[in-house]
Amino acid sequence: MGNRVLRARNGFAHLRALWYRGVVEIEVPFGARAVPSDQTRILREALDAIRPGRPAAAFDLDSTILSNKPRQARIVREFGRARGIALLADCTPRAVVSWDLRDTMRLCGLPADEVQRLHADLRRFWLHRFFTSDYCREDEPIAGARDYLHRVLGKGGQVLYITGRHAGMEEGTLHAFRNAGFPLPDGARVQLWLKPQPDDDDDRWKETCNARLLELSGLACAFDNEPTHVNAYKRAFPDARVVHLDTDHSGRPVEVRPDVPSIVDFRMPG
Ligand SMILES: [Mg+2]
Repeated sequence: MGNRVLRARNGFAHLRALWYRGVVEIEVPFGARAVPSDQTRILREALDAIRPGRPAAAFDLDSTILSNKPRQARIVREFGRARGIALLADCTPRAVVSWDLRDTMRLCGLPADEVQRLHADLRRFWLHRFFTSDYCREDEPIAGARDYLHRVLGKGGQVLYITGRHAGMEEGTLHAFRNAGFPLPDGARVQLWLKPQPDDDDDRWKETCNARLLELSGLACAFDNEPTHVNAYKRAFPDARVVHLDTDHSGRPVEVRPDVPSIVDFRMPG
């Protein structure tokens, strides 16, 4: 099946179930919503929202402040070596353009019939590795993220890393933070909120986090690449500056609310 753009207000749960089963493919172009000339202003307004009585700035990790493309490329390379497929053993992050491993295999130069033949095997191989501490060590910072996180602290803010990663990925996550030069969790001004169990639902976990945030002194700003999550932040915290990272997302057909602006990274030119 070719890629299709599917936009639906109704039947979302049904579509999502089909997507998880690989029955439909959903592709919304990434980077199309953000307006580059607005980026510096959006980032500055989020910083300006930080106040002594409202210091919290929430950051998702994957595809928000960290790119996991190097992690994905390593998995494909190891698969290539394990199966004796030289084209995959040479995979680089440039071949990772979506969550569909068939796209990556095609960009590595594999013919269409080989892509189809290997897909289920590679997906199993990927699933055993992607959500692990050892592999998430590979992640690299999104451009400008390190400086921006330090600016938040410089404004007197509190950095909350709020992620769907599970607690078993903590060590690799901290390794990637150190490599990236990100502020490290100290349990107070910098905190890392990991999902307790790998099988916990991501959306429900983020709602739990929103409830925890409400118990704090409020939220100044929040950043996430998932439309579902930025919309939930804006619903729970209408006064917060909520910003969508137009990098990639799970492919679910959810529109970002019109009052949530998009950026492609954290660089602030000009
Ligand atoms: Mg994410």
